[in-house]
Amino acid sequence: MKRIAFFDTKPYDRESFDRLNNGRYDIRYFETRLTSAALPLAKGCDAACAFVNAEIDRAVVEGLVSEGIKVLALRCAGYNNVDFKAAYEAGLTVVRVPAYSPYAVAEHAAALLLTLNRHIHKAAARTRDFNFSLVGLTGFDLHGKTVGVVGMGKIGRIFAGICLGFGMRVLAYDAFPKPQDGIEFVSIDTLLTESDVISLHCPLMPETKHLFNEETFSQVKPGVVLINTSRGALVDSEALLSALRDGRVGAAGLDVYEEESEWFYEDRSEVTRQNRTLSLLVSMPNVIVTSHQAFLTREALANIATTTLANLDAFFAGAPLENEICYRCMGTGHPQGDCPKRLDGRCH
Ligand code: NAD
Repeated sequence: MKRIAFFDTKPYDRESFDRLNNGRYDIRYFETRLTSAALPLAKGCDAACAFVNAEIDRAVVEGLVSEGIKVLALRCAGYNNVDFKAAYEAGLTVVRVPAYSPYAVAEHAAALLLTLNRHIHKAAARTRDFNFSLVGLTGFDLHGKTVGVVGMGKIGRIFAGICLGFGMRVLAYDAFPKPQDGIEFVSIDTLLTESDVISLHCPLMPETKHLFNEETFSQVKPGVVLINTSRGALVDSEALLSALRDGRVGAAGLDVYEEESEWFYEDRSEVTRQNRTLSLLVSMPNVIVTSHQAFLTREALANIATTTLANLDAFFAGAPLENEICYRCMGTGHPQGDCPKRLDGRCH
């Protein structure tokens, strides 16, 4: 039986993988994240399985291969944390889960927006103290307002649909726009200046790092609500702090943070060393930070387990790997250049 070294295990991962594995694989669950120091745990395993915040650099790639691992199964969609050139050179196949529930993420973005807009977080804290005052809880109707969606892929389109349901005017910016009824595709400058709400759904790449910075925040409509459920580094956190302080940004809902890998997914309440920017953000009444939990629904967890196990089945059966990524095709589904996935369904 093939053995999988499963890193960064949480109880909810184990429940869905055990239920859907049906004894196919010998899964060794480890709580530790996949790092160079954790590599000895993978000894004797055929595959490794990692989650979104593992830093899969050259040392980790080469270490996995030297432990005999031939395939790394990412149980997430994003893959900005993997050194794909190193993986290709070392002969390590990388597969991922491109979509597990775009609804989960889009609905979480909507939840952050509604919570901020109607001050639900403050109201819940007040009523717990038997404070039933409404002073300071005035929100605004979403109906009739303009939302700007950056990145109109699987998640962005669903979020845009939710906003249309609220009766909002929906503007969208995408590097590769595909027309959609009811959505106005515009330049990023128009989106910045006309939106009352901006929600980020594009991937993190060198060209989108700090897409939201001092300059972009100087263009936004004063008081804009910013929602980021995509990747933390799309936003320059220092620039966001200063825009929140002077009111250019009225509120921010952040499910991701650019230095989250050091903090998110664990209880850090006893840690005395603090991250200044994150501490300031979480302390602001008009900011909500969630710990990269937008994906966390029962449906998404089941889909993650199903696709990850199917990816491993296909790998070990020598079948085409629909969800393989390499540095030449970057998982686009449209293998380019000299990637052999074009011909035989595998990058390697
Ligand atoms: P997707 O690939 O379906 O869509 C991404 C869209 O962004 C595409 O339409 C693409 O054309 C567009 N895009 C690419 N480069 C761009 C650029 N420079 N500027 C503007 N648009 C650009 O991806 P998806 O499934 O919708 O996921 C979007 C992002 O959500 C992922 O990259 C991931 O980082 C994030 N995500 C977060 C969670 C979470 O739990 N918070 C879960 C899953 C995904």
